[in-house]
Amino acid sequence: MPLKPHIPKPESEHKRVGYAIVGIGKLSAEELIPAVRTSEHSYIAALVTSEENKGNAFARAFDLTENDVYNYEQFEELAGREDVEAVYIVLPNALHREYVERAARIGKHVLCEKPLGMNAEDAQAMVDACKKAGVLLMTAYRCQYTPEHWAARDAVQGGKLGQARLGKIKLLDSMHVQVQDDPEAWRLKKDLAGGGPLPDVGIYSVNILRFVLGQEPEWVFAAQHQPKGDPRFKEVEESVSAMLGFPGGVIANVLTSYGAMKTGTLRVLGEEGALLMDPAFPYDGLKVKITDDQGEFSPSFPEYDQFTLEFDHFAQCIRGGQQPWTPGEEGVADHIVMDAIYESIRSGKRVELKPVRKPDASRGEHKPQLPRK
Ligand code: NAD
Repeated sequence: MPLKPHIPKPESEHKRVGYAIVGIGKLSAEELIPAVRTSEHSYIAALVTSEENKGNAFARAFDLTENDVYNYEQFEELAGREDVEAVYIVLPNALHREYVERAARIGKHVLCEKPLGMNAEDAQAMVDACKKAGVLLMTAYRCQYTPEHWAARDAVQGGKLGQARLGKIKLLDSMHVQVQDDPEAWRLKKDLAGGGPLPDVGIYSVNILRFVLGQEPEWVFAAQHQPKGDPRFKEVEESVSAMLGFPGGVIANVLTSYGAMKTGTLRVLGEEGALLMDPAFPYDGLKVKITDDQGEFSPSFPEYDQFTLEFDHFAQCIRGGQQPWTPGEEGVADHIVMDAIYESIRSGKRVELKPVRKPDASRGEHKPQLPRK
């Protein structure tokens, strides 16, 4: 279990936001729970899991007691825990809606892993439930909180970064690919995952294209491959290629697969220069580079933990009563695009999307900042 060193509860705990982590799978165990080590505004107050021994081991490592560990049936008991102000849903995709709605009903703010739901309708119901209950809902898009992704967004929207110039943006391309080799994995079961690589890893490409452009696509055209005879792809696609048409004739490609070497990139071509993020999506080691006729420019940033940035952003929103930068509506927006991608695959036709007059209208404020190390 990768939980070293032992972290005591912070003295200023009452100022920090206490989270209950719901689901202790790979992401929670290896990334999220350890990330509170570098947190200024968040701490873990409770754990929800069906695996009692695992829960107790994590509780001991984080100075919690066995009383802070709940199973899924006991979830509603968190209502009586004033120190639990937010829950972080880290379960298979099909369970996100149920737990977001249960959290809203007991008055807890919710941070929910991506994809927000199984489709746009599902995700919108989650947004509505949280609004009705008066709690905040944030979609856990860690890539919208890193300095590298913000540098890319600034370059795309301003046409330059420092002295390096991109000029008018014309074309974008993002790949997010990895090998999924266990045919029994929940990620390959349609009822649990909602689809194959598209809602799991391709969503990063859809999300980052929308984020750097600050615009919503007007149309989508897509195709997929689902090999016959491969037990992994009985229910979901192996690969998807989608073209997204953004306002002003900007065209973006998304390529995602569970069948090829791990790759995660974003490339943006402007009239004067090119931007490359490679890699664009891992938990660390992100790189952003602009090449123009004067040479190459690559900004560097101090080390940070992406999940700490995400935890702390939501904690500050809770303290300030503000809408998060990636609210539930941001999760809905990606589902609208992914639903259109699947519709285009089914129909073989280009799918027109409803015009969005004010992109980013539902977002709260965010000033990118790095936590103290
Ligand atoms: P995982 O399979 O490692 O863990 C899933 C957890 O859910 C386990 O604790 C498991 O016991 C529990 N669970 C409850 N009901 C289950 C059921 N019916 N079937 C299977 N597991 C069940 O998954 P993970 O990689 O931790 O992913 C969890 C969520 O986090 C997913 O929504 C995924 O998309 C998201 N995720 C996000 C990132 C990111 O970088 N933001 C990275 C990985 C995963």
